[in-house]
Amino acid sequence: MARIHSLGFPRIGAKRELKFALEAYWAGHSSASELMEKAQQMRSWMWQQQRDLDLVTIGDFSLYDQVLDMSFALGNIPPRVDADPSTLAVEGEAFLNAYFKTARGRSVSDCGCTQAAEMTKWFDSNYHYIVPEVGQDTQFAANPQHWLSALEEFESQGYAANRAKPVLIGPVSYLYLAKSKQDFSPLDLLPDVIEAYKSLLHAFAEKGIEWVQIDEPVLSLELNADWRHALNLSYHKLNNMGVKLLLANYFSSLGDNVRLACDLPVQGLHIDAVAAEKEAKIVADWLPSHKVLSLGIINGRNIWRADLDRCLEIIQPLHQRLGDRLWLAPSCSLLHVPVDLEVEEEAIGKGCDIRSVLAFARQKLAELSVLSRAVNEGEESVAQELQASRVALQEWQAFKDRQHSEVRQRLNNLHSDMYRRQSVFAERQKQQRAQLDLPLLPTTTIGSFPQTADIRKARREFKLGSLNEQQYKQLMRDEIAQCIEQQEALGLDVLVHGEAERNDMVEYFGEQLDGFAFTRFAWVQSYGSRCVKPPIIYGDVQRPEAMTVEWAAFAQSCSQKPVKGMLTGPVTILNWSFVRDDQPLKETCAQIALAIRDEVLDLEAAGIKVIQIDEAALREGLPLKRSAWSGYLNWAVNNFKLAANGVEDTTQIHTHMCYSEFNDIIEHIAAMDADVITIENSRSDNELLAAFEQFDYPNDIGPGVYDIHSPNIPSPHSIETLLKAANKTIDIQQLWVNPDCGLKTRKQEEVWPALKNMVEATKKLREQFA
Ligand code: GLN
Ligand code: ZN
Repeated sequence: MARIHSLGFPRIGAKRELKFALEAYWAGHSSASELMEKAQQMRSWMWQQQRDLDLVTIGDFSLYDQVLDMSFALGNIPPRVDADPSTLAVEGEAFLNAYFKTARGRSVSDCGCTQAAEMTKWFDSNYHYIVPEVGQDTQFAANPQHWLSALEEFESQGYAANRAKPVLIGPVSYLYLAKSKQDFSPLDLLPDVIEAYKSLLHAFAEKGIEWVQIDEPVLSLELNADWRHALNLSYHKLNNMGVKLLLANYFSSLGDNVRLACDLPVQGLHIDAVAAEKEAKIVADWLPSHKVLSLGIINGRNIWRADLDRCLEIIQPLHQRLGDRLWLAPSCSLLHVPVDLEVEEEAIGKGCDIRSVLAFARQKLAELSVLSRAVNEGEESVAQELQASRVALQEWQAFKDRQHSEVRQRLNNLHSDMYRRQSVFAERQKQQRAQLDLPLLPTTTIGSFPQTADIRKARREFKLGSLNEQQYKQLMRDEIAQCIEQQEALGLDVLVHGEAERNDMVEYFGEQLDGFAFTRFAWVQSYGSRCVKPPIIYGDVQRPEAMTVEWAAFAQSCSQKPVKGMLTGPVTILNWSFVRDDQPLKETCAQIALAIRDEVLDLEAAGIKVIQIDEAALREGLPLKRSAWSGYLNWAVNNFKLAANGVEDTTQIHTHMCYSEFNDIIEHIAAMDADVITIENSRSDNELLAAFEQFDYPNDIGPGVYDIHSPNIPSPHSIETLLKAANKTIDIQQLWVNPDCGLKTRKQEEVWPALKNMVEATKKLREQFA
């Protein structure tokens, strides 16, 4: 019997229940016990969704992040949080305080401030995890409570303990993701961390757990000898703890690590057979004959319905060889896809309905069931299901509305001039300075201002039809005018319109472009309580009409100062969407780039002098294997240039990026040739600035001077210190002053004092440099 299981299930709820529970708690509207009760309900709901699986994952539910859970389970809590790990055994108020302080700088709204831990993207996904902090003094003290209390609930709901499969992040991946502020390799902690893992596994064994899933996604990376050795050492030590270990890799092939992974002394290996279909056979050849192979056959990262016939072509020969040793699963945790297609009651698509070719988490588990029945009971037993899937996919292939011949033609006629500015940066800079007349250290923001309840209400009512277009537009114009007025009052130099009309920086554009489809509830967790609803790119992309010009022109009419036009770049739109899988990514990206290029030129024609094209997600498209980086970066940077570079020299192009790890791709970032780049910086302790020690970045740059992910208000002094630090590696003439990112998630009362301090600090510095 081929068993089925999953690596993890979405925990946010079909209608984002967890988000609302968390936000109520943080705002002080609900108690710790109410939050814990909600968490319990969410867990039991998750198991309910997975009841047909042979093994059900426990511990994948998290109140914020699974890496943070791992840190707490290892007793690795940042000292500044000032929590005694031994008091945190029960998930009560003390636990929540320490936990949320680490995650977001404070627990509930009226509590004191702490610096939040760094947050960064989980491998090549758009999920963010809380970076574990380690140092010479780090001591681990294992606490299995996170899984054991879930297990207790699990059993109390009538499930057998041996059906529960606790999931942990493996010791090597944990240390790989950890950061140290000292000159110290996290790997030095390996012997200690292994001891902590031993005691976790021991605690599971005592409770009658049979299988433990231990995730080591670092196996997808190209690892050096030290890390490979660490894997060897860890699993030799963790062997024989009384539980069976299923070692899980996902997101990419094992590549050079395939032999290592097959030989590690564990009882099972999970591989991503979607990302690396051909590897399945190699692994089956090499895997010692007592081990289980868990085949990640259903795509856990995308939303397309599986081609079950093709899956069976891969599975059946493996099943003949491995028999019961073959398990089936989604390729990775289903955290990365929305929960349930069934809650989408309306058609998805523009003038069509693509629901028949979609599958979300619940549907993916159903596909898995069909596959296992086909394997275990014969394909006749699921003939109907297989036929339905076949028909849906055949109809999809025949569906012609997805193609636009004009788009295809434009793509065939691209020429090299379209990727280049007319003059080099130095020349453009002269012209832009003359025209924009900006002071030293120009101040600006990244685009969005707080999305107040009123703004969201207006957008909702317009969508529902209770506000007509005229009324809606007037409300938005009022918002924009007010936002501009406030920025002028503060003395900011380059203004923004505030993005009140935008729900989301990708969705807003996708809604107006052909080839994109939208859902109502297909939320995916981004971090903590934050969810995104990625659009679905199902057809050729085309821009029927201008998307932002009216708002931008109105905003500019409210001020003498330059107002930035605000667009999302082609790479980010691509990386934050669910993308069609029938053509290369770079082709889909080029289609989007052309649509954005048209918008850029329309903005310019409407008198907008500064245009920002956000590429927040450029980095997360990087392939996991370094050897594949330059291939990706070349087409990604080219598509940005295709979108941006049609403008005159006098038009100033900005771009913005939401991460600080720059050192390794800085040459490609420079090749984008944006006149100004604003980047996340403050939360990662100026790590960014180190990049400029080695590399002379040629154009202007605004390293973020305060962390917008935290509600804390930065002091003028902290901003000044940051700017001075930046000035050590960046020429003062090149420096801009801005927050780390957009301000939409913050409250008004957090934003305005923060910006006031930013302007004040800047003025002080200008005097010093005058
Ligand atoms: N312009 C966007 C904003 O300010 C950028 C957001 C982002 O980088 N994630 O919200
Ligand atoms: Zn950002």
